[in-house]
Amino acid sequence: MSQYFLSLCILVLCITYCAAADYYKVLGVHREASDADIRKAYKKLSKKYHPDKNSEEGAKEKFVEIAHAYEILSDSTRRQIYDRHGEEGLKAHEGGQQHANPFDMFANFFGGHHHADQVRKGPTSLTEFEVSLADMYTGASIDFVIKKKILCDHCRGSGAASDSDIHTCSSCGGSGIKVVRQQIWPGMFAQSQTSCSECGGRGRIIARKCPHCGGAKILDHTQHYTLEVERGMPEGHEVVFEGEGDENPDWEPGDVILRVRSKREQGGWRRKESSLYWKQVIGIDEALLGFERNLTHLDGHIVTLKRQGVTQPGFVQIIKGEGMPVWQESKFGDLFVEYTVVLPTEISPELRHKLTDAFHRHGRGKDEL
Ligand SMILES: [Zn+2]
Ligand SMILES: [Zn+2]
Repeated sequence: MSQYFLSLCILVLCITYCAAADYYKVLGVHREASDADIRKAYKKLSKKYHPDKNSEEGAKEKFVEIAHAYEILSDSTRRQIYDRHGEEGLKAHEGGQQHANPFDMFANFFGGHHHADQVRKGPTSLTEFEVSLADMYTGASIDFVIKKKILCDHCRGSGAASDSDIHTCSSCGGSGIKVVRQQIWPGMFAQSQTSCSECGGRGRIIARKCPHCGGAKILDHTQHYTLEVERGMPEGHEVVFEGEGDENPDWEPGDVILRVRSKREQGGWRRKESSLYWKQVIGIDEALLGFERNLTHLDGHIVTLKRQGVTQPGFVQIIKGEGMPVWQESKFGDLFVEYTVVLPTEISPELRHKLTDAFHRHGRGKDEL
């Protein structure tokens, strides 16, 4: 009697323990996670803990647990029940229905490839991405969107209405290949292999197509991303968003690469590596007598341009430390200010008189020396 009681206790404990495993925690996502986040988490974790790859103790249990969590959370109806009524609610809903085989699930998810190492990689996309020079000077976070293909949320890329609608092709026995044996001479046969026409070489036949994607397996999706522009990032620097390319059941998504450049702004700042160039226009009076001017830098701070005496047209003043930040370092390049002198289009008779006087007197003085 007491023994029976004890085993009952253990059973109860076990049930409580099993129920306590939070599916969200298993996948490492928050409760508001999107379908894409959940899929991504499953993709990452299931590969990490797949017993083919991970021989650590408990990896298989973890793999099964991950598969189960994904099975529930990737299905909007079951997820809703789980959110509202927990594990118990799910049990009541499903009435003891068996869980999907975690290995089949994995195989379906990765398009029939059991070994993650053998999965082909999809195309990588490279996009030229222009940002303002000011963003490169200060650093910035820039949001952008990418239109891409994702695996259908409903069928997880199988194209079938449910897992039970995927049948092994009876024509080729699931191999996707048919061996044709031809007698070319009495007693002599030639064998050739062809792709199975019944299943298109896939080895599987789908009885009922997924209603969500119509069997296409993939859907159009607009995904939001943030590009972190680092201070002083080199022109043409490539920022890689790993595995964010088009999804497809036949491959592992490729990368999205952004090649970042600063926009060429007319008449404004120019950059070459960590040097900045600025063209400053001054009047003839400033060119002759000297001046002090305020230049507003890319981040809004003021640089004082100061010259005493004569400034020749085309003169370049070097201002140390006012160039671009040096990427991943805490120093700055230099600023090169080139001066252009503008002459007035006409001068008044009065000014003409004064200038003649000034230049002539000055000239005579020179002659006398
Ligand atoms: Zn076939
Ligand atoms: Zn679908």
